[in-house]
Amino acid sequence: MKDLHTLGVAELGRALDAGQVSSTEVTKHLLARVASHEHLGAFLCTDTDLALEQAAAADARIAAGERSPLLGVPLAHKDIFVTEGLPTTAGSRMLAGYRSPFDATVVRQLGDAGMVTLGKLNCDEFAMGSGNENSAFAPVKNPWDTSRVPGGSSGGSAAAVAARLVPAATGTDTGGSIRQPASFTGITGIKPTYGRVSRYGMIAFASSLDQAGPMARSAEDCALLLDAMSGFDPRDSTSAEQARPAFAKALAAPRDGATAGQPLKGLRIGLPAEFFPAALAADVNGAVRAALAELEKLGATLVDVSLPRTELSIPVYYIIAPAEASSNLSRFDGVRYGHRARQYTDLIDMYKKTRAEGFGDEVKRRIMIGTYVLSHGYYDAYYLQAQKLRRMIADDFQACFQQCDLIAGPVAPTVAWKLGEKSADPVATYLADIFTLPASLAGLPGMSLPAGQGESGMPVGLQLIGNYFQEGALLHAAHAFQQATDWHARTPTGY
Ligand code: GLN
Repeated sequence: MKDLHTLGVAELGRALDAGQVSSTEVTKHLLARVASHEHLGAFLCTDTDLALEQAAAADARIAAGERSPLLGVPLAHKDIFVTEGLPTTAGSRMLAGYRSPFDATVVRQLGDAGMVTLGKLNCDEFAMGSGNENSAFAPVKNPWDTSRVPGGSSGGSAAAVAARLVPAATGTDTGGSIRQPASFTGITGIKPTYGRVSRYGMIAFASSLDQAGPMARSAEDCALLLDAMSGFDPRDSTSAEQARPAFAKALAAPRDGATAGQPLKGLRIGLPAEFFPAALAADVNGAVRAALAELEKLGATLVDVSLPRTELSIPVYYIIAPAEASSNLSRFDGVRYGHRARQYTDLIDMYKKTRAEGFGDEVKRRIMIGTYVLSHGYYDAYYLQAQKLRRMIADDFQACFQQCDLIAGPVAPTVAWKLGEKSADPVATYLADIFTLPASLAGLPGMSLPAGQGESGMPVGLQLIGNYFQEGALLHAAHAFQQATDWHARTPTGY
């Protein structure tokens, strides 16, 4: 038996199934590993008793003959999902010490599938950020180079999977927070179609954009988790009434027209010219182009397409997301949740002091921007214009999908940057979201898969974007790529 932390979700599931290892053994092994890698800052909390209790329950289900691919496999949740048994902070001092009376739907679904929760993972405060430096507790370090960021906002999830502390984690993606940290840490992550996965119990940042998804080592592992996470939830009014899919099973099914060695024959992959600007870092461009050549070898055809409003997705997103955030965050008033200022003179003073103390700088910046663009006199000039452009960006994608089945490009313009490098300049980090924001604004599914290595050996991700509810096609192409390459299997030195 290989070292237990080297096993991915599918491999672990098979080992548990065959009785080669128990969930309790795996859980103990990984908890010890989490404890010896605290310097990464990936975990905000663990609960040994709770994890071992869940592992024992999984072992009992296995002993009783139950067979299910996730049964007994450990994972950890981004601390933006509320959990009944563990604290939930959303990376904010505002929620320090908060405990939810219920589990998020995603947490419940994965728990029902038999997964064991090791703990909660660090993230940017209320998922606002691209480097995980906006966490109120600690920045997360990239296991490939601890002087660099792991990406954000699901940076704890990405670092934990990359460092082999856990085979899989949940993440959320509002404007790239699953795809970009996956790219920065050499793991695989998928942001499903808006509405595919329930948002119930996921602390809201920008409700028209927020979507949960899995982060793991491979497309196969992501498919296994997504199978359990997807499905209609009557508790989420934007949940799509789609039948629960069977993504994992479909991975190996051949495409129509596929031949031996050309599993992707007939697949048309669109390359938007705007995703390959002159400013794209040479190492990222090189790795992405090499991955595209590999996809061609596997039978795919590359076609040139255009997403003419790609650059505009930055101002559009940074108007709409803060607008929604300013509304969503109004609930943190010192009365209902978490932090309350100790000293105040009256109710208004209590609100002011609580929010001044509880929120960090980036969150305050977003609340101010959001309040401004929604205010009388500016609404038409900013918010309404942004909404119109959002529609046009979505339409641009539909024009592309007339010519291709999937769209491909880089996830981010550079590899992971150094800790502190961009913290003084929020706009510089906003600009780096250019390639993930368009799919978010359109509500389309997108994924990041390890495609190569760039400067200083840092991972580079390839982004694939599909049409609505085409996660199966994304995962299928990514799986074919991963069967032919080993980028997803590489680990940072020492892990
Ligand atoms: N980086 C983007 C932001 O700061 C996206 C974050 C996210 O997807 N949660 O808003």
